[in-house]
Amino acid sequence: MKRIVVYCASSSRVNEQYFMYTGLLSEFLVKNNYEVVYGGGAVGLMGKLADTVLEHGGTITGVIPYFMSDREWAHTGLSKLLYVNTMHERKHKMLENTDGLIALPGGTGTLEELLEAITLKRLGLYTKPIVILNTNNYYDPLKKMFEKCMHENFMNDKHRLMWKFVDTPEEVVTALNEVPSWDSNAIDYAVVK
Ligand code: AMP
Repeated sequence: MKRIVVYCASSSRVNEQYFMYTGLLSEFLVKNNYEVVYGGGAVGLMGKLADTVLEHGGTITGVIPYFMSDREWAHTGLSKLLYVNTMHERKHKMLENTDGLIALPGGTGTLEELLEAITLKRLGLYTKPIVILNTNNYYDPLKKMFEKCMHENFMNDKHRLMWKFVDTPEEVVTALNEVPSWDSNAIDYAVVK
């Protein structure tokens, strides 16, 4: 069974389409035999992800810091819930032994997790596919920002291969299988020369 980490929003006040796409994606992941890892929350898109995976008989592991579970933010019905001390540890744990990463729309938490993973990939420390679900064109500004980074030589053109934006949940699983492999020697071209 492949293991996939999903980063997504904790907010519950987002447009229904974000919930719908999160639900559809969760179903596809279960159907395609992916075990899911995520931040362990019960609300927002995080809650929708977990509820849908569980409804469809899938396996989902949450990784949550003690200070969040103390506030009763953790989902109580997960297949497995891992506790960590810090946000740093959580990010490390979530990414560990995964076969790929999916970012759904989210706020600063999601953006931070996604950008850290891309940074690790640039250094060859994470080599798995990174797929960004651009529901409702939410991530267009980020796509533009990445293009600007490359255009202004803050990144190399080949860094574009580190991520893949897709528009629908259906395309995510295909993208996970088709993203070109990335090698641990990426550090050799991490620096723009
Ligand atoms: P955001 O994309 O800003 O909503 O952040 C999602 C991330 O925020 C998660 O991975 C957590 O780090 C954190 N987070 C914020 N609120 C919660 C919550 N209620 N339950 C669990 N994690 C949360």
